[in-house]
Amino acid sequence: MSKRILIVEDEASIRDMVAFALRRAEMEPVHAADAHAALVAIADRVPDLILLDWMLPGLSGLELARRLRQDPRTAEIPIIMLTARGEEVDRVSGLEAGVDDYVVKPFSTRELIARIKAVLRRTQADGGTGSLEVGALRIDGPAHRVYAGDAKVEIGPTEYRLLHFFMSHAERVYSRAQLLDQVWGGSVYIDERTVDVHIRRLRKTLEPFALDGLVQTVRGTGYRLSATP
Ligand code: CA
Repeated sequence: MSKRILIVEDEASIRDMVAFALRRAEMEPVHAADAHAALVAIADRVPDLILLDWMLPGLSGLELARRLRQDPRTAEIPIIMLTARGEEVDRVSGLEAGVDDYVVKPFSTRELIARIKAVLRRTQADGGTGSLEVGALRIDGPAHRVYAGDAKVEIGPTEYRLLHFFMSHAERVYSRAQLLDQVWGGSVYIDERTVDVHIRRLRKTLEPFALDGLVQTVRGTGYRLSATP
């Protein structure tokens, strides 16, 4: 089935160029000229990925990304942000808003399609096989086992769930509250400090394999799992 890609961009010429490239790559483009139109399109049918322009009239791309991440129905949709060169400094706020990747304008459609495919591969890595890989780490989902290279990792049940969540959403930053929600199911009896405790345990578990650096603290925001230090 072809992937449905929502293009949120106010410049019709860019929208058309991207739509043309998507069709050629056998993907199905859907257009939205602003955040409102994007929300209408998403309510109609959840896309496989969103290409989101940073500078939009009305609600900005960044604000829309934040909103989508807060809604459980849309929190998992991969987002690639389209930014102008000067907006590159704001990369950090975009990553904090949960954006999966960036493409800086002007971009070649060939580069854009490659990035879209990479993000789709990464975010849908679990599709069917139940196996996830980030760097030297691998999770065998059905067997509930974690491997560092060829070595089996002994891991506690909470750390396993935490790691599984991180590996299914690699490179994305999550706040403590979001992790509580996603990994602990939003139990009101659990304190946000619990997250820190389990992050520490997870790092300790990965330390003998020199993979503890994959679990990264993002100052003032939360945590992420990244294949790059
Ligand atoms: Ca724009």
